[in-house]
Amino acid sequence: MTVQSASIKSIDATNMLHPYTDLNSLREQGPFIVERGEGIYVYDDNGNKYIEATGALWYAALGFGENELVEAAIAQMRKLPCYHTFYQKSTAPSALLAERLVSMAPGNMSRAFFTNSGSEAIDSAIKTVWYYNNSRGLTAKKKFIARHRAYHGVTIASCSLTGIERNHLEFDLPLPFVRHVTCPHFYREGLEGETESEFCDRLIAEIEQTIIDEGADTVAAFIAEPVMAAGGVVVPPERYFEKLMPVLKRHDILMIADEVVCGFGRTGQMFGSQTFGIDPDIVIVAKALSSGYLPIASMLVSEDICDGIADQSKNLGSYNHGFTYSGHPVSSAVALRNLELYEERNLMEHVNDMIPLFRERLKATAELPLVGEARGVGLIGGIELVADKTTRQPFDPARKIGLKCSGMAENTGIIIRPMGDALALCPPLIIKEDEINQLFDGLEATIRKLGNEL
Ligand code: PMP
Repeated sequence: MTVQSASIKSIDATNMLHPYTDLNSLREQGPFIVERGEGIYVYDDNGNKYIEATGALWYAALGFGENELVEAAIAQMRKLPCYHTFYQKSTAPSALLAERLVSMAPGNMSRAFFTNSGSEAIDSAIKTVWYYNNSRGLTAKKKFIARHRAYHGVTIASCSLTGIERNHLEFDLPLPFVRHVTCPHFYREGLEGETESEFCDRLIAEIEQTIIDEGADTVAAFIAEPVMAAGGVVVPPERYFEKLMPVLKRHDILMIADEVVCGFGRTGQMFGSQTFGIDPDIVIVAKALSSGYLPIASMLVSEDICDGIADQSKNLGSYNHGFTYSGHPVSSAVALRNLELYEERNLMEHVNDMIPLFRERLKATAELPLVGEARGVGLIGGIELVADKTTRQPFDPARKIGLKCSGMAENTGIIIRPMGDALALCPPLIIKEDEINQLFDGLEATIRKLGNEL
C-alpha cells in the first residue's frame, strides 16, 4: 500500500482546533484530515487508504463503515431525537441498554448511569463512592488508590486518578485525594533478579502497605484498567488482580474496574475483569460500547452501592447528579444496536479465532532490532522501541522515536498511536486474518527501516 503524500503536515502541540476559513486552506495547511471509513480502514482527503491500527481512539470495534449503526441512529432520530433521564423519565433505548449492560457486566451490577464520556463516568464514580461512604457513616473514607501510568480521563477528578505526569503538569493536579502506586509493568519495574511472581507479590504488598499507612478508614477505592491502555499497553503480571482482591476486601475498599478500553471483547472475553479475575463494585464502560459512533459511556454500580445511594437519596429528596445528555436516546439506540450486533454476528467467537495469529505476529516483532518488548492480550498489543535491547535502555524522549515511527508507518498506510516509544495496537475487532498479516507486515517493514536509519 503506498500513500502519495506525506501524511503529517503539521504537529500542533494543542488539541484545540485551529479555525480555517475554507476547505482549500484547511487541505493545504491544516492537520491530517480523515474523510471516510470502511471496515478497518480510513481514507484521507487525498483518497489514501490506511489501516486504523488503534481503532481510532481504541473504540471502533465494528470498524468504520457499519451501516446498521447508522440506520439505528436514523431510526431513533426520526422517532425521538432527544430526551432526558431526569425526574423519573427515561426512553426505551436508554432503559433497554441499562438492562443489557447490567446483565452482561462482571460482578453483581444492578444499575447503569449514563454519561457522554469516560472521564464523566469516572468522575461520577468518585462522587458516587463518596456519597455511598457518607451514607454508611464512613465520612473519612474518601481516598483513592490508582497506579502510575494509569489513564482514567482528563477532567479534574478523573485526571487526578490518571497516573501520567504529562497530564498533570501545570494543571495543578493531581488533587490530594489520590495515592499512586507502582505500575504493574514487569519489563520496566521488575528488579534485578526478581521473578514475575515475586514482582507481583511486591506490588500487592505495596498496595496493602499504602492502605495501612494511610489508614484503611481513609481509603475508599482502588481503580484500575484491567490492561493499561494509554500508559503504553501494560498487561499485569499473572494473578495480580486475583491476589489484590482479598486485600481490598479485607480493608473494605471498593474495586472500580475501568473497562473503557478493555470492555466488550478486547481481551478475548467480554470484559477485562473476566480475563484477569477482577470482582468489581463499579464498572466503567465507554468506547466500544457504541464502537465510538456516538458519544456514550456508563458507570455500572453494584447492588450494595445502589442500596446505599437509594437510602441517602431518600433522605435528601433525590440523587442530585446527572448530565443533560445522560442516556441520550440516539447514542443509547446506537449502543444497543452495537451490542446486539456483537451477539448476532458472534463477534466474540471471531475475536477468539483471530487472537492466535495476532499474538503470534505480535510476539514475532520482539525479534526486530529496535523492539525491547512486544506485549499484549486478546486483540490489544504494545510494541516498545528501545535504544538497547539488552540493557532495555530507552531512547532519549527528545528524539521522539515513537512519533517518528508512527509517522513512517503512516506513510506506508498504517495509522498507529505512539504512547511515548510504545506503539499501541488496538484494531477494530472485526479485523480478519489477511488484514492482521497486512498490518504486521507493514509495521515490521517500518520498524526495520527505522532501525536502518538510526
Ligand atoms: N479510561 C480509560 C481507560 C481510557 O482509555 C479513557 C480514554 N482514552 C478514559 C477513561 C477517558 O475517556 P474519555 O476520553 O471519553 O473522557
